Amino acid sequence: MEKWPLGVFASINAGLGVHLDVAHELGVPTIHLHAPARAARTAQHGENFLARLNELGIAISVVFGGFEGESYADIPTVKRTIGLVPPETRAERTREMEEIADFARLLGVDTVALHLGFVPHDRADRLRAEVVEVTRRLCDHCAAQGQRLHLETGQETADTLLEFLEDVERDNLFVNFDPANMILYGCGEPIEALRKVGRYVRSVHCKDATWSDRPGETWGAEVPLGEGDVGFENFLATLKDLGYDGPLTIEREIPQDPDRQKHEIGRGIRLLNELKSKIL
Ligand code: MG
Repeated sequence: MEKWPLGVFASINAGLGVHLDVAHELGVPTIHLHAPARAARTAQHGENFLARLNELGIAISVVFGGFEGESYADIPTVKRTIGLVPPETRAERTREMEEIADFARLLGVDTVALHLGFVPHDRADRLRAEVVEVTRRLCDHCAAQGQRLHLETGQETADTLLEFLEDVERDNLFVNFDPANMILYGCGEPIEALRKVGRYVRSVHCKDATWSDRPGETWGAEVPLGEGDVGFENFLATLKDLGYDGPLTIEREIPQDPDRQKHEIGRGIRLLNELKSKIL
């Protein structure tokens, strides 16, 4: 495959990311797919969807899981509701994530990803040990069907993430690096973080953001690609240094305004193409 093919975050029906037809209009060859709701994760739906993707000439590189009850309203709400960290929903969500991996396998996709949630930083924390354990279980489920698991970045610093990856001790566990999340959550300068976790980075989100005036307490702002504080020329140059040659997948989190989303992603594609021809 071409080096650094462009992609967008997309969904089958309602969900995060652009509609598949929009991905086609934007002319990208790859997508990250936000997994559909359980009712749509059947073999029949999977087959129909694959046929449509083939028609459009689009390949899925990663399937992302998400769960009912998650909310990104503000940082404390994220801590309380996201991923496999909250104990009261963990067992159910872990089962669901395994089902999502099974659906990804039906689609012929070898990588699934998720926001694990706010992993406690203290290695002695019992909750952290539980999250390590459940991540192992999920990695093993994926490994049994030849899949990798990618953790989305942002909810912890690069150092905390590295410690966590080491503690899980699974060789199919990697990172989806989202530079904007590092800024949005106030978890560290993204390029420095990318260098630190670089050896684990197997997929990326091209998303931009500006810092909060109270990093880690309140959100920064997600903005169109190239208008924030990531610095995409530097980001791509760093990916090149690291030997990353996978897709550059644009994520723009304004599904409530699809026309603007499409327009801004279109501009993001032009920017990334310019930078690619300069850097590659
Ligand atoms: Mg992301």
